[in-house]
Amino acid sequence: MLPPSSHLETIAVHSGMEGVADSGSHVPTIDLSTTNPLPGVDAGGESYENLATGGELGEGQSAVYQRLWQPGVARFEDGLSALEGTPGTVAFASGMAALTAVLISCVTAGKPHIVALRPLYGGTDHVLATGLLGTTVTWAEAHEVAGAIRDDTGLVLLESPANPTLELTDIRAVVDAAGQVPVMVDNTFATPILQRPSEHGATLVMHSATKYLGGHGDAMGGTISGPVEWMVRLRQVRALTGGLLHPFGAYLLHRGLRTLPVRVRAQQSTAGTLAERLVGHPALTRMLYPGLPGQDPQGLIGRQSSGAGALIALDLAGGYSAAVRFTEALRLVSHAVSLGGIDSLVQHPASLTHRPVEASARPGAGIVRLSIGLEHVEDLLADILQALEHCQR
Ligand SMILES: *Cc1c(COP(=O)(O)O)cnc(C)c1O
Repeated sequence: MLPPSSHLETIAVHSGMEGVADSGSHVPTIDLSTTNPLPGVDAGGESYENLATGGELGEGQSAVYQRLWQPGVARFEDGLSALEGTPGTVAFASGMAALTAVLISCVTAGKPHIVALRPLYGGTDHVLATGLLGTTVTWAEAHEVAGAIRDDTGLVLLESPANPTLELTDIRAVVDAAGQVPVMVDNTFATPILQRPSEHGATLVMHSATKYLGGHGDAMGGTISGPVEWMVRLRQVRALTGGLLHPFGAYLLHRGLRTLPVRVRAQQSTAGTLAERLVGHPALTRMLYPGLPGQDPQGLIGRQSSGAGALIALDLAGGYSAAVRFTEALRLVSHAVSLGGIDSLVQHPASLTHRPVEASARPGAGIVRLSIGLEHVEDLLADILQALEHCQR
């Protein structure tokens, strides 16, 4: 058991490991069973009833069926809850499956109206804008949240740092403006290492675990962390709709948590150096990084988060054509969507992840977003500089 005074690094390494050593193993075993032995007809039925209504597996109960309960997924959930400082976590097949479960819960509770702060991840924007899941949306800036709340508002949704411009939002101010309405923060970019939204009053914390939590670009998953009553609701949605995290994915994501603090801090340090060295480059109209002077006007770094993160965005003076040439010229940094892994990636949000976003809210055509990995800072700088030179020609 972890001493209650444990630090984040210790929690990352040891959380979700209860009972592993007692079972004779050093790391969790991957249980691939889709079904589980039932101790008896009555006991099986009771377990089924408990799990299908969102309960947790009871002592000595059968897990019944993988869609209802999976021990490795539960371990990963416990590990993340310890890092986020929330009573619980429910994990799903992807970040979008996790968001879907929350939106379905709002609709079925008779509160289908969502107040959302742009910019958001393109897929999140798309699912809200289309109303695909029966929600309606009011787009608001932080100071407009109180006025946007209605009787049928089920959720206020924000990202900080935001995707892809890396603007920061004051979570506490939005929580205060939202009153009784729960606020969900997509914490994918910051990770619990830099920011724990529940400490600032957010009810729910979302992750695309595909990104930093896994950290190696080889496992998809999504999570919602928050209070017990929400976890019950979300486990029920997961059990009935089946947006499950696979046991192997859960294993990889849980393993990812163990190195999360060192990865995030090392990647952030490199990103900060790159931003400082690139700011003012003649090929750029703007260097977007919340750690640069003037880019955190509310002073949220230090108060809300412990750092600016490991994503940077370049606004290229030559617009779209410069963005095309820049991404093509990079050699070390791969041109691929996603972020948060150990290798650096670049993507052009306006034509890719934010393509479905309505034109007025789409990021500028000259913006490219880089997810900084674990390569040496000088190698990354050299690659970026040669690509900038190429796009000025
Ligand atoms: C990738 C991402 C998502 C969607 O997650 P998937 O795992 O791809 O479904 C949501 N929010 C943010 C901020 C993301 O980066």
